[in-house]
Amino acid sequence: GHLDVRVPTRGSDELSRLSESFNQMAEAVQRSEERQRRLIADVAHEMRTPLSNLRGYLEGLSDGVVEPSRELFVSLHEETLLQRRILDDLQVLALAEAGELGYTKAPLDLADLATTSATAHRAVAAEAGLTLTVEAPAPVWVDGDNDRLRQVLGNLLTNAIRYTDAGGQVLVHAYADGGRAVLSVHDSGVGIDSGDLHRVFDRFWRADPARQRATGGTGLGLTIAHRIVTDHGGRIEVSSRPHVGTTFTVHLPLLTGS
Ligand code: ADP
Repeated sequence: GHLDVRVPTRGSDELSRLSESFNQMAEAVQRSEERQRRLIADVAHEMRTPLSNLRGYLEGLSDGVVEPSRELFVSLHEETLLQRRILDDLQVLALAEAGELGYTKAPLDLADLATTSATAHRAVAAEAGLTLTVEAPAPVWVDGDNDRLRQVLGNLLTNAIRYTDAGGQVLVHAYADGGRAVLSVHDSGVGIDSGDLHRVFDRFWRADPARQRATGGTGLGLTIAHRIVTDHGGRIEVSSRPHVGTTFTVHLPLLTGS
């Protein structure tokens, strides 16, 4: 439990107002300490599995219980790459939460971003047996950080491809709607249970089917995407039906006078 550092408040004099603001500060500090404690616990939990997999194999190899093979080394290599990705994602998240990510904003056409990102992902989609289509007929200008918004769309596309079985479709839309720029990624994939929808942006949250699949995900992609979109004055929404598909929609302020 926490040490209660609050001071008693009484009366309506200056001293009691001072005590009240002191208490608010103390509570804010405790909340942020609690958040840090939870973050460290979450990170430890997430890193433990790949690390103990690695250790198990390395011990097996040195004991001679496990036969060295190319396949084994490839999977060990993948475990280390996953840990690297978790750390990289955590660093981006930590910087963003501290307001230190340092966005470089400039006029940016989301239609162009959608087209070029889709091109970059088309080979992976084709390999997974998916068709990837873009509908972005007209320019959609926003004031944004090209690299970071590309990362957002990249995360959404990677997920759409990951969580859709062969034969499915992924559709990217970019358009202006009233005063808003809209970027959406729709897939005909496994979907997300309605009871889980509110958790998709939580760090390290992954649906059980996703955990079981060897997808190489970190559970941080959507947390980062949410953060970047919010830092651009926008919002990101999800709608989904299990076994039917999922749509993530990003709304950003439209750049006016362009
Ligand atoms: P991950 O690295 O696991 O993909 P994310 O933060 O990007 O982490 O996503 C969190 C979880 O949300 C995923 O593990 C998956 O369970 C679910 N999810 C995300 N995108 C989709 C999607 N397009 N279809 C179905 N489930 C999804």
